[in-house]
Amino acid sequence: MKTLNFGSLNLDYVYQVDHFVRPGETLSAVSQTVKAGGKGLNQSIALSRAGAEVWHAGCVGPGGGMLTEMLRKNGVHTELIRPVSAVQGNAVIQVNSQGENCILLFGGANQCVTEEQIETTLNAFSPGDWLLMQNEVNLADRMADRAWAMGMKTVLNPSPYDSRLNAVDFRKITWILANEIEAEQLTGEKAPEAAWAVLHRRYPQLSFLITLGAAGSMAWRVLEGSVESCFQRAFPVQAADTTAAGDTYTGYFLSGLMAGFPLQACMRQAAKASAIAVTRLGAADSIPHRNEVNAEGEES
Ligand code: ADP
Repeated sequence: MKTLNFGSLNLDYVYQVDHFVRPGETLSAVSQTVKAGGKGLNQSIALSRAGAEVWHAGCVGPGGGMLTEMLRKNGVHTELIRPVSAVQGNAVIQVNSQGENCILLFGGANQCVTEEQIETTLNAFSPGDWLLMQNEVNLADRMADRAWAMGMKTVLNPSPYDSRLNAVDFRKITWILANEIEAEQLTGEKAPEAAWAVLHRRYPQLSFLITLGAAGSMAWRVLEGSVESCFQRAFPVQAADTTAAGDTYTGYFLSGLMAGFPLQACMRQAAKASAIAVTRLGAADSIPHRNEVNAEGEES
């Protein structure tokens, strides 16, 4: 069984600043680092470190070679990534002396996916394979249509939530993986159970997982018409940086599902992995390998 992640790749330009730049101000940064980023890239790395065989598809612009290289070094298949002439997708991140950040995102090459590319890419997959999508590349709606028609399982992480998601036919989605904010944006409901009720009423085939930060995660899986629900609490840790907690969870959770593990076991492993990730600084760098996750104690 193969996994395709059709997602974003970003260069993250991280600037340490004394304070965030104010209107009209010119400010010298204390330091700059360039990191690999993008929800797509993070989730591919999480899937691979969790043990899944994953193909990443998407577009890179000039200067994006280090992103493809980073995926390759992490065991992700990169032959479906297309070079395009548009500027590399990137984020300008200011981190102030209190450790807060503000982020300016530019989609660039990530918005250059074409219908022809979707067709060619999906032709390399078969019924029963899995497609993972986020909302940082264009045409997620077309990907879902095509993958569903082929009999693939489709997973949507509706992040960042925006009106383009209205074009997605949720009757063609197997799993939604959302955090609390995205779940509320999607359903208008704050409480996880209420969000699930809305989704289940509208799309009876849909399974739903919601992550609740330090409060854990809940899932409802629809299998042959019946619903299985699970709660998993978070592992107690001293959080240093919660960036990529959700991406780590996604990679480990899906890797478990694809391997056929019970729902509770998939959530537990994902919670363990993301608890390790939040104790570390950084995004992709903070995602643990599965031997580290397996080595963690069984407490809680
Ligand atoms: P996102 O990063 O997408 O907003 P969440 O903040 O909901 O996602 O976190 C995803 C998962 O990461 C949670 O369900 C939980 O298992 C784990 N997690 C997040 N924050 C913490 C924390 N402070 N301590 C332990 N685990 C955490």
